[in-house]
Amino acid sequence: MTEEQLTVKDEIENSKDKYFLLKGVTGSGKTEIYIELIKEAFFRGEGSIFLVPEISLTPQMINKFKNEFKNNIAILHSRLTDNERAKEWESLYKGEKKIVLGVRSAIFSPIQNLKYIILDEEHETTYKQDNNPRYHAKYVAIKRCLLEDAKLILGSATPSIESYYYAKKGIYKLLNLDKRYGIAKIPDVEIVDMKKEEDLFFSKKLLQEIKDTLIKGEQVILLLNRKGYSTYIQCKDCGHVEECEHCSIKMSYFSGSKKLKCNYCGKTKKYTGKCSNCGSENLIHSGKGIERVEEELKKYFDVPIIKADADYSKDRDFFSKLYEDFLNKKYSILIGTQIIAKGLHFPNVTLVGVINSDIILNFPDFRAGEKTYQLLTQVSGRAGRAEKIGKVIIQTYQKENYVIENSKEEYYEEFYEKEIKLRKMFLYPPFSKLINIGLSSENEKELLEEAAEVFQKLKSDLVEMYGPMPSMVYKVKNRYRMNIFIKGNKNNIDRFKKF
Ligand SMILES: [Zn+2]
Ligand SMILES: [Zn+2]
Repeated sequence: MTEEQLTVKDEIENSKDKYFLLKGVTGSGKTEIYIELIKEAFFRGEGSIFLVPEISLTPQMINKFKNEFKNNIAILHSRLTDNERAKEWESLYKGEKKIVLGVRSAIFSPIQNLKYIILDEEHETTYKQDNNPRYHAKYVAIKRCLLEDAKLILGSATPSIESYYYAKKGIYKLLNLDKRYGIAKIPDVEIVDMKKEEDLFFSKKLLQEIKDTLIKGEQVILLLNRKGYSTYIQCKDCGHVEECEHCSIKMSYFSGSKKLKCNYCGKTKKYTGKCSNCGSENLIHSGKGIERVEEELKKYFDVPIIKADADYSKDRDFFSKLYEDFLNKKYSILIGTQIIAKGLHFPNVTLVGVINSDIILNFPDFRAGEKTYQLLTQVSGRAGRAEKIGKVIIQTYQKENYVIENSKEEYYEEFYEKEIKLRKMFLYPPFSKLINIGLSSENEKELLEEAAEVFQKLKSDLVEMYGPMPSMVYKVKNRYRMNIFIKGNKNNIDRFKKF
């Protein structure tokens, strides 16, 4: 380990603090610190829980831990059978295994003599379970550490705004790893204004960079946040847009399978090439999906291309095969949704292109800025992780937006300062707490009446209340959905919650 890594490790081991936020730039060697801590605890007979946002997306990390801890580690994920899970839990309960690597529910595993809980990529939303039983693994971890006298380490290159705020206030002890591990360098990030470009998909700059990279025999990753070919199909004659009959959502077109698919309920429909309203064949494919980007890209480059989105990653082996194949240079270009932004390490990838960075940014969510920042810096971290210097091209229609402007890991502080000001101004977390009450029914009339009644009954001077209002996607799987949105300071929200 480097001097920097050793200092951080010693600090965690010897400090009286219980909660740590380890902010380390991509490739700064956080994993090595985790492994050392867990190993030393193990030799003292102490247990550790190591949480990751999603198992299938971190094959390299899993392999590292498997090699290191062999039969002493239990790997818990959602695809285990009940029987497999019971066996692992029993071995932990009996103290035969002392280390757990798993997704959020592994926070409840019956580890004996617990010393460390580590949440890697602590900013990820997958740590929160939003169906019953509802919990956030981070807050369960804090409570467990308190009850069992263990230490919590939250790790991230781009901490959530709330965690960083608490670290700055001293509630978590802030630890920094600023240098990239080994000889890897921070990539060059360039932001391209798409308003000035003719091509809808690729800027001249990105095309030139792809060309240069391929000539050198190096690889390219392109990020696009949409599945399928086009995100909707509209009839030019009657204006009809193909929608799902069970959800109020436009259906995406998948050119490979010639199908229309609803991304909310999963229902598919055969694509006939004709408008289902007037029968016209005069259809426009709008919105860019990764299948469309692949097709456009093939007009310029005759090289092997592979695609990846969340649908593919449902397949147990797809991701590890993709990882092997791309690592072994079977493909020159990888196009994918945000699932490719995480944890993967490809030494030969020297160019990362973000086709459209605006999609998440335009999402009506107070965390949209934070999520966009995290995605952009994470995917940038895929470029140039070995001795080669990487290049990142971010295409956008909002070049002046503070999120896009600061979308480099080394600008985290600048980004944070702007974001926290906005949160304070509009009273969003960490300056307030929010409650979202969701109501749904197959009967629209009853739902509207009930929602209005619930709202009236809940009315309180303790908090600000908004609604009842329709969900962003009003109908899903034949159920209509309404929301009541509640905001207040911590004390008042806690009092209100009891009510
Ligand atoms: Zn039509
Ligand atoms: Zn649907």
